[in-house]
Amino acid sequence: MAKERRKLPRLRQFYRCLCAQYPTPLPTVLRLRARPGEPKDFGGCDRVASGRKIAIYVNPRFAASSCHDTLIHEYAHALVWPHARVDGYRPDHSPEWGIRYAEIIEHWTTGDLEKKSWEY
Ligand SMILES: [Zn+2]
Repeated sequence: MAKERRKLPRLRQFYRCLCAQYPTPLPTVLRLRARPGEPKDFGGCDRVASGRKIAIYVNPRFAASSCHDTLIHEYAHALVWPHARVDGYRPDHSPEWGIRYAEIIEHWTTGDLEKKSWEY
């Protein structure tokens, strides 16, 4: 496979890579649109499907590099989302989130994750 060149296919490709490289406790779904009710935000994540999945929103109105950063940020939230708590959890920027976020960023900045993502 080759690296996707257009923004939305490239975000989907990178998301598939993240799913394979960093399994989340709950299944996720990528939604390349604004988070409902938040048209000016970069993105967000919410539990959907009666709590069975985490929707990761990336608002495509922003530049590709911003969308990419947002995807990593929101994906890190999905990585630390508590398995047992269906309701009442609000994603935050806890130390646990920061560790997972930094892990992906480090993997990205070494170039490994970029090249690996072309395979997805
Ligand atoms: Zn956040």
